Amino acid sequence: MPLYEYELCEGQCKLCSGKFTLNRPINRAELTACPLCRKPVRKIISQVYTPLHSKPVSISDAKKAGFTVLKRLGKGEYERQ
Ligand SMILES: [Zn+2]
Repeated sequence: MPLYEYELCEGQCKLCSGKFTLNRPINRAELTACPLCRKPVRKIISQVYTPLHSKPVSISDAKKAGFTVLKRLGKGEYERQ
């Protein structure tokens, strides 16, 4: 069962603290309100999720992530990729 992360669209909630995770079957309708306080929520696309079988990070992936990739040419010498 996938784990979904939700946060309140606005305001604060003492019950869910404004952010919560929930196990939901895929075939269930999208959660649109906090089950505790009934305020509107939106699903967060988790940034920290790391697949177990991830491919090695390529230079282009690193660049997309905002890294400046340097290639080591020699002692103390680096070339910008
Ligand atoms: Zn709530």
